[in-house]
Amino acid sequence: MAATVLVTGGAGFVGSHICDRLIERGDKVICLDNFFTGRMANIAHLKDHSQFQLVDHDIVHPITLDADRIYNMACPASPVAYQYNPIKTIKTSTLGMINMLGLAKRCKARILQASTSEVYGDPIVHPQTEDYWGHVNPLGPRSCYDEGKRVAESLCMNYHLAHQLEIRIVRIFNTYGPRMDPNDGRVISNFITQALKGEPLTVYGDGSQTRSFCYVDDLVRGIMALMDQGIHTGPVNIGNPGEYTMLELAEQVLKATGSKSTIDFRPLPQDDPKQRCPDITRAKTMLKWEPQIPLAEGLEKTVHYYRQQLGIE
Ligand code: NAD
Ligand code: UDP
Repeated sequence: MAATVLVTGGAGFVGSHICDRLIERGDKVICLDNFFTGRMANIAHLKDHSQFQLVDHDIVHPITLDADRIYNMACPASPVAYQYNPIKTIKTSTLGMINMLGLAKRCKARILQASTSEVYGDPIVHPQTEDYWGHVNPLGPRSCYDEGKRVAESLCMNYHLAHQLEIRIVRIFNTYGPRMDPNDGRVISNFITQALKGEPLTVYGDGSQTRSFCYVDDLVRGIMALMDQGIHTGPVNIGNPGEYTMLELAEQVLKATGSKSTIDFRPLPQDDPKQRCPDITRAKTMLKWEPQIPLAEGLEKTVHYYRQQLGIE
């Protein structure tokens, strides 16, 4: 029988792709979003589907509905967006998490929390394994996001221990692809829009910091495999271990767009992590998952989407 699945943050970049995959396999989807960073355009194609329901709601406030499974994706993910109203970001990851865990408890639903590589902060262990406790500045400008997500993980584990709630925690590493808001301020959306407009690419710092970029289809496949498996409760890294400096990424974007844009070096934001790369041994062994789409191929698909969005052929 088809499951009823609640996707919070379902109008966002990642959440909307999860809605698509669930509808494709015949589940009933309740997409809940407050449209802070989400966009109606991401779910417009689903709105008239008989198995799709949209709820305009903020998870910071309790809600009563029925679901068999919950993907808790709601939370701004771009540093620009989550630092816009840091207190609200903390409320979303704490009060919002409590509300979703309470809902899961009442419905006896399995709940998956979208955690992040940011729980590792500016990591000293490299690549990051799930048993690394992290290196987070609790007072810095990123702490509203990092510490909020750390509390959210703790809440999940404590609801599991106290109430036997079925929880899943995915630690998502930098993900990119179609439906990422061109204006959201993250590095790939910035570089591609700048390259397509012929503007300089804004590299923060000297561009030697690294990130590992996962194409959204790979990520969503991993997240759904984690939700569907019946045993493992602890956190699982999902990301692509291909690691690039921001200067290398800029070169890849110039190649993918055929742009002649120059590089404009800007100040490095405070507490910007110097390196980030997932150890995905756990996902490989437990979920039989690994990413399939290399950066060059993913960038090509993403550039195609941004050209359409920006009306640049
Ligand atoms: P996004 O900003 O595109 O999507 C987040 C969605 O949540 C948006 O639709 C937004 O409107 C909604 N939202 C925010 N606060 C809400 C609230 N209080 N109530 C209801 N809805 C709310 O970001 P994304 O990249 O799709 O990220 C989705 C999730 O994955 C987030 O929880 C994020 O922290 C996590 N994550 C993403 C990445 C990544 O690289 N994309 C990396 C690590 C973790
Ligand atoms: N960055 C950059 N130029 C930009 C936006 C970001 O050089 O226009 C850098 C940023 O300083 C960080 C990396 O790119 O080192 C990834 O930033 P993003 O905001 O995408 O995600 P983060 O991993 O920092 O949360």
